[in-house]
Amino acid sequence: MSGLPATGFGNTRNVRPFRAGGQTGIMNSRSVSFDRAAGFYDQTRDLPPELAQAQTELLCEELAATTRCLEIGVGTGRIALPLAGAGIHVAGVDLSPAMLGRLRAKGGGAVPVAVADARRLPFGAAAFDAVLACHVLHLVQAWADVADEALRVLRPGGTFLVSQGGQSGDETALELRKRLRQAAGLADVAGRVGLHGMDELDRHVAARGVGVRHLPTLRNTQTRSVAEFLDQVAQQYYSWTWDLDEATVRQAAAEVRVWAEHRWGDLTVAQMGAGSLRWHAYDVPA
Ligand code: SAM
Repeated sequence: MSGLPATGFGNTRNVRPFRAGGQTGIMNSRSVSFDRAAGFYDQTRDLPPELAQAQTELLCEELAATTRCLEIGVGTGRIALPLAGAGIHVAGVDLSPAMLGRLRAKGGGAVPVAVADARRLPFGAAAFDAVLACHVLHLVQAWADVADEALRVLRPGGTFLVSQGGQSGDETALELRKRLRQAAGLADVAGRVGLHGMDELDRHVAARGVGVRHLPTLRNTQTRSVAEFLDQVAQQYYSWTWDLDEATVRQAAAEVRVWAEHRWGDLTVAQMGAGSLRWHAYDVPA
């Protein structure tokens, strides 16, 4: 695994290799490594090109004055690679070697990466102008430690940018998720070992004297068929299913499919909406 270059990312300590648990895709001391998802992850987070571009532009505005950015839980580089393409100097860390392998296969050396745990970053204080985290904090039980680590490695005046996506207000999506959880015997907050809502994070950083800004929401009008979604659930594409055995997940998906066909008819025609994109910016005092 390549480390971060010393130049351009000054003030870094040595990057320690971090062993991401014994098996792949399992809870790792209450962090969820995505090794098992590396082959299909991008399919589950695909955005229409104009929306992906709008997100990159929104982040570029925030990062315009930066020379050293870090994305924690960078995964396959879905966020970092377009930023690098737009001229932002961004490096990434992740627990999952397999996700980082995908990133490198897609982006060559555009984004330097290292296997590291966001709960204890291998960088000195004030090493970065900006830190990003997208769809990560719900996967880490010690999400508050991750937030504090991000603030530690930010220089005074630096910005922590966080997105957890946004719940789709779409009734079909909400109903399906609720029924799937019930059928699998899961609690409401399944898949969230960590942060439950952005308001919790807002309060946490505000208590540390950090400014909170909510960036404009980017609406996602994309839809996909209910059939495709249920197929992906049955194949355990989503991290909230990873603690369950294969048979339980398949059975739950099958039960909900029967219910959904009764309710909506042809599930290849019935559509469900996607969550909007919401970013919060946390400004460390200068
Ligand atoms: N940020 C990328 C994106 O939006 O496409 C990837 C998001 S993916 C849902 C979450 C990523 O966080 C996975 O690659 C997972 O391995 C990583 N992750 C989970 N816990 C972590 C931790 N404690 N430290 C570093 N990475 C972690």
